Amino acid sequence: MYRIGERTSARNATSRNRFARHPHTAADRPLAWNYPRDTQTPGQPKETTVREATVTSMEAIEAAARHAALTRGEGPSSTDYGAEPSILHAPSEQAGVEAILRHRLRLPGDVRLSTYEDLNHPLFPGAQHFRATRTQLSQGRRAYFFIGAYESAWRLAFSLIAPCPDCGAPVPSALINSQADFGDWLIGRDGTSEAPLFRTSPVHRRDCSLVSG
Ligand SMILES: [Zn+2]
Repeated sequence: MYRIGERTSARNATSRNRFARHPHTAADRPLAWNYPRDTQTPGQPKETTVREATVTSMEAIEAAARHAALTRGEGPSSTDYGAEPSILHAPSEQAGVEAILRHRLRLPGDVRLSTYEDLNHPLFPGAQHFRATRTQLSQGRRAYFFIGAYESAWRLAFSLIAPCPDCGAPVPSALINSQADFGDWLIGRDGTSEAPLFRTSPVHRRDCSLVSG
């Protein structure tokens, strides 16, 4: 015998833990939610109000991306933003990946990114040991996740994690290599390209009809 309240709360807990339920992603949940939010030095006055007022919101990031998609071809070309940062000159591989994603999505400096090793996907096609990177773009309580992997020897490509249309598992879905690409995806346009890792991702559920390989 159950009480209605119990059943409701169980269902809520399940929906909150969709990622955790999946066997492949249980160990791959974001590690960065508990990064230090307050970098205040002891003895200094608190500046929380000022800092919060200047942080770019996720809504502003999304609005800028949609605008870039709608004005694609009209605005400044990608080269007007300067050369892409080199991963070879970054202090670490993770810092280099973040700098490239920040550059491609035109993310302001106050937007936090955190990058760690992705446990499910290879860094380049056929790689056995080198793992792709997983970068979390989070503002407030909202987050997007991007997988970074080489699509060729020199080109690092980013794919947005989104639910598979067939099985619902969180897989690399759309190739997002510019602010306009991100905007296209947000608008729901057909123009976005399928992520190279989409059909081979081991994160799909076993009965997913879209898996290949
Ligand atoms: Zn699937």
